[in-house]
Parts: sequence; C-alpha cells; structure tokens
Amino acid sequence: MNLELSEEQTAVRQLAEEFVAREITPHVVEWDRAESVDRALVRKLGDVGFLGLTIDEEYGGSGGDHLAYCLVTEELGRGDSSVRGIVSVSLGLVAKTIASFGGEEQKRRWLPGLTSGEYVGCFGLTEPGTGSDAGNLTTRAVRDGDDYVVNGAKMFITNGTWADVVLLFARTNDTPGHRGVSAFLVPTDTPGLSRRTVHGKLGLRGQATAELVLEDVRVPASAMLAPEGKGFSVAMSALAKGRMSVAAGCVGIGQAALDAAVKYAGEREQFGRTIAHHQLVQELISDIAVDVDAARLLTWRVADLIDRGQPFATESSTAKLFASEAAVRAANNALQVFGGYGYIDEYPAGKLLRDARVMTLYEGTSQIQKLVIGRALTGVSAF
Ligand code: FAD
Repeated sequence: MNLELSEEQTAVRQLAEEFVAREITPHVVEWDRAESVDRALVRKLGDVGFLGLTIDEEYGGSGGDHLAYCLVTEELGRGDSSVRGIVSVSLGLVAKTIASFGGEEQKRRWLPGLTSGEYVGCFGLTEPGTGSDAGNLTTRAVRDGDDYVVNGAKMFITNGTWADVVLLFARTNDTPGHRGVSAFLVPTDTPGLSRRTVHGKLGLRGQATAELVLEDVRVPASAMLAPEGKGFSVAMSALAKGRMSVAAGCVGIGQAALDAAVKYAGEREQFGRTIAHHQLVQELISDIAVDVDAARLLTWRVADLIDRGQPFATESSTAKLFASEAAVRAANNALQVFGGYGYIDEYPAGKLLRDARVMTLYEGTSQIQKLVIGRALTGVSAF
C-alpha cells in the first residue's frame, strides 16, 4: 500500500480541516452543553460535498475513494464527534447502503436529498431488547396487499429525531435456518411512526439520538431494499463499512487529544519549567501518538482494501476494535496531561473522553468485534 496521499486526497483533507475550523470548532462547547448541533450545519456539509463522498455524481454524489472518505471523517471527528456521527450514519450507513443495494427508483428518490443534506438518514437496527444479538430483532412487517404493515420499536437511533428517512430492519418471513429479516426505506413522516429523543447521553451530546416506535406503519412493498429476507446481510454489509468510518472518527479523536496535550504541555509550568520537560508527561504524550499512528494505519488499510475490491470485513472489525479502545486511552491520557483543567469543559480532553467512550459500544461492542475476528481465525462462531 502506498501511504502517500494523492493530490485529490490531500485537497479534500485540507478542505475538511478548513471546514471544521470555520463551521464546527467555534461551536463545539456550545453544542455539547445545549445537547444539539445546529441543524443548518447538515446543509453546509452537503454543499461542500462531504455527504456525497464515494457516491456517483449521477445521484448527486461527490465521488472520491474510501481513503478520501476516511480523511474527511477523521477531520470531522477531530472537530466534533457528534458531527462526524451525523455524516457516518446519513452517508455511511444509509446513502452508501442505498447506493449498493437500492433499485434505480430508490436511488433517484433518496440519494440526491441525502447527499445534498436536504434529507437526513438514520439506521434502525437496534431495539430495546436486541442490541448485540441484532439478528433476533422483533419488529415485524406483515404483508397486506401491496403494502407491509410494520409494528415494533427501535432504540438508540443516531439522527433519529431529525431524520427524514429510516433504513429500517424488520422481520418478515422466518423459515428454519433463515433469519427472515428485510430492509425498508421508511419516510419518518409516515403515519404511525413516532420518536422520542434520548436525553442524558454521556457523550455525543450534540447528536439527535432517538427511540422510534412503529404502530401499524404502512409501507409499500416498493420500499423494500434488496430482496425479502436479505435484510440482515444488508445490515451486516453496511456495518462492515460503517466500522471503518467509526475507526476513522476515533483517529480524529486521538489526533485532537494529541494536539491538545502537546500544546498544553508546552504552556503549563510546574516545578519551574513547562510540564513538557517532565519525562512522565512525555510518556503520556508518546503513548497517545503511538495509539493514533497505529489506529490510522489500520483504518487506511481498510479503505485501501475496499478501494481495491478486496475482502475487508475482518480488517474493519480489527480497525474499529483497536481505534475505539485507543481513542479512549488517548483522550484519558490527554486529560491526565491537563490535570484538573482536563476535568472541565473549557478544555477539550473531557469531551474527547466522553465522546470516545461510545465508540467501543456501537456498531458492535469491542466484545462483538473480538468474536468477528475470532470467527475468521478459528472458523468457529462463538456468538
Ligand atoms: P448488549 O447487546 O445488551 O450488550 C451488553 C454487554 O454484553 C456488552 O458488554 C456486550 O459486549 C456484551 N455481550 C453481548 N453479547 C455478547 C456475546 N455473545 N459475547 C460476549 N459479550 C457479549 N443502533 C442502531 O441500530 N442505529 C444507530 O444509529 C445507533 N446509534 C447509537 C448511538 C448511541 C449513542 C448508542 C449508545 C447506541 C447506538 N446504537 C445504534 C445501538 C448500539 O449499536 C448498541 O447499543 C450496541 O450494539 C450494543 O447493544 P446493547 O446496547 O443492547 O448491549
């Protein structure tokens, strides 16, 4: 793998850096305290092309490869993980999945709006009773003439409160040995669909996370994405790429932790010299740097495999597992460098730690990533 970025990749990273400095950094503390990112930002993300990366221009996308997508995701994560997550879900889990599995009509109906930021998408897999064991979901879609009637509930849905469309997973036809889950594209203003914002999150406080309740929601059969019964493989395919995006966001958290720790260590004086002179502070900083480097290389490897059309799912789990645990360590080490100031939100380390923590939980917990990697190595499924 050539680790040198192309001119196009360097330019898109630069664009993302400038966008974050202008549109995100000045508002990070305010959005975190208010528990809401400014919704107008979504259109700005669309205008600059970040919601259309890797999607064909024919459908309103801005093209680019998966490494470019990772570079933008890293910069957004470096700025604010709440914003990074909005893009990772609306583009990464929803638009990219429609682009891969959708019919022509579905692509034309949803992709231009999702890539421009006119629409926000959300991914409805997790339920109150099924998280890691997503294949056992209980939301049910029953065929009724040309429609399906859906009943059930979805929990912890990122973008849920804002979303215009939910990529919804529901049980349709159970046969022995077959999971019978199907995927549907459901407009969130469909009668019977209600949402409740989840408040009080430890991190990602700017994100509109919601519980969705579906009571006799009528969806036309044409809203089904991929053939009936193929929904679980659609979800797993979306998450395999999604894990790379989470990993890239974690690299961004780590880089922000490193930048902040180095800067503060060069300014803060204790025992008559800046704390950068103390060897144990240098240890904290170098531990962050090694974690960030390793996480970035694992993440770029996944992007490279996808762009070359190679299998990547195990590598994506590896990158997500390492990068998420590394982001928690990096943010925690940065907080230590800041001492007591790290504990208040005028300084960045505390928020980085709160935002990093969920990365080891969603899109498959660290334990689930280990089972994915273990299955690939041993041939034994230990789920
Ligand atoms: P559980 O599955 O109940 O797990 C509890 C514990 O048991 C964990 O430590 C887990 O690792 C462990 N465990 C479970 N099974 C095993 C096993 N077989 N072996 C070993 N250990 C095991 N979901 C969506 O569908 N869409 C979203 O947009 C979305 N966004 C989210 C945003 C946030 C802020 C959060 C917190 C969650 C989000 N989720 C979303 C849900 C997330 O993916 C789940 O929380 C996650 O998959 C874990 O499920 P759970 O919370 O039910 O935990």
